[in-house]
Formats: sequence, structure tokens, C-alpha cells
Amino acid sequence: MGALRRLAAFLAGVFLLVPQVCAPAQTQSVLPREPAAQTKSLFAQSAVQVLEREFTSSEISFLLLDARSGVLLSSRWEEPEKPIPFGSLVKPFTALAYAESHAFQYPVHLCRGEASGCWQIRGHGKLDIVSAIAHSCNSYFRVLAAALGAGAMQPVARRFGLEEPDAEISGAPLMGLGEGWRIAPLHMARAYLELVRRREQPGVRELLAGMGLSARQGTGAGVGRALLHSDALVKTGTAPCTHAHPASGDGFVIVLVPAAQPELLLLVCVHGVPGATAAVTAGRMVHRLEE
Ligand SMILES: [Zn+2]
Repeated sequence: MGALRRLAAFLAGVFLLVPQVCAPAQTQSVLPREPAAQTKSLFAQSAVQVLEREFTSSEISFLLLDARSGVLLSSRWEEPEKPIPFGSLVKPFTALAYAESHAFQYPVHLCRGEASGCWQIRGHGKLDIVSAIAHSCNSYFRVLAAALGAGAMQPVARRFGLEEPDAEISGAPLMGLGEGWRIAPLHMARAYLELVRRREQPGVRELLAGMGLSARQGTGAGVGRALLHSDALVKTGTAPCTHAHPASGDGFVIVLVPAAQPELLLLVCVHGVPGATAAVTAGRMVHRLEE
């Protein structure tokens, strides 16, 4: 049985007594600080240790959460509560703010690439919301964000526990362009758990379908290709770098596994690469959890 399944079994309530294990330097293992630390299973410990031991590059930051309880299992992120720009990781929430004033009907849009303001120079062609999330099409989201103001975004942000955008912010920053809307990494991770929890609510199913498609053939394909036994929900983003030694940008990835009933959420930041490249790193991490 793979580590992911064993971990899932643990999260489903299989508790074993194990001694606490010290985390390596630079890595903040959250497990020993939880009230039930002594009852954490060997499986959870070993999955966490795999990440903490094998992904020690200073270029990689990550948060690993129990997708059902929201408990932080492991953290290697310098300041997980300091708001930073997350690029396209905000797009599902942009979509919901749009949907709420459009009877939960998402448009179909023709992306003409650079000519219509997309990062994909050749263009994505005709897209619905599912494909737009999967391929993180900026042209599509420029249409959604065009008429959006902070006033429409703030209630959605509150509901999902995200920092609210400042009142004067409107349009493109609300789809994650630039750094006008900053969110704390822990809040971003938990907002995606809330999205899954609300999967039956209007407008949400399409967004999760887009995240499933992202893992299979979109910007999150680096995760999908690495998975052996599970499928995943993925969203990627690229944002201005906020590190002390700045790069042109940082890549972000949210991974929820397994797709149908997520047990784990992994939020990864890779310094100096686009989101789709960061997804390859996130794929290696989830692959190790699965083994
Ligand atoms: Zn596009």
C-alpha cells in the first residue's frame, strides 16, 4: 500500500502511538505542536518526513495540510502568514465573484493569445470556464475581471478566508495580475479547502472540474504525469517574486489529492520559475507521498 493511501487511512482515523521525531533544520514540522501529537501515526510522520528530508532546496517552500480537518501537517515556508502575490491562484475566487452577479453562468471566450492579453502567445482558442481554469487563460479572466471591483470581490474573500482586496483595486489585479492583491499562504491553502467543501454550491463544480483538467492536460500536467495511483486537482500561478534575492517571478501550485475526496493539500512555491514548471516539482513531491 502506498504512503498516500496509508496516510489517508491515518486521516480516516487509524491512530498509532509513535514517539515524536525532531524535524531537520530549516523545516518547521507542525506535527509535534498539535495537541494529539502523541497519537500521530507512523504513516503521517513518514510522509511528512519524506517531504522534509528530500525537498530541502532553498528554492522550494511548501505547506502540507490535512484536507479534511485543515490541520497543518508540515510547513517549510518562511512566513506563512505574511500576505504575498499569488498570481493565478486567485482565479477560482475571481470566477466566483463574477458568477454571483451573472446568475452563475460563465461565458465562452475566444483567446487570441498575446493579441487578447494572454500569457500564451499563440492563444488558447475557444474556452469555457473549465478549460480557462485548466490552462489558466489570462484572456478569459480579463473578461471576467473587467467589470469586477473590490466591492464584488470582498464578500467572496471573506467567505473563503482570504485577505480582502483594498477598496480602490479593480479589474486585472483581482485575477492575480501584478501584486495589488496579497494573500497569506496559509489563508490561500485553506481557501482551496473551503472551495472543495462547497463543491455542491452553484458555480463551484466547474472550477473543480477545471482543476482536474489542469492536472491531466493543463498547466498542472506536471503533477498529473507524476501521479501513479491517484488523480489530483491542481491550480498553478506565477507572481512577482517577493524573496530577499528576487527573481523575475515565482511559481505557485495548489495540489489536492485524491481528486474525488481530497485527503491532502500541498501548496508549493518554487523560486524563479513559472507555475507550470513549479507543478513538475509539486508532482515529484506528491509522487513521493504516494509511493
Ligand atoms: Zn489564453
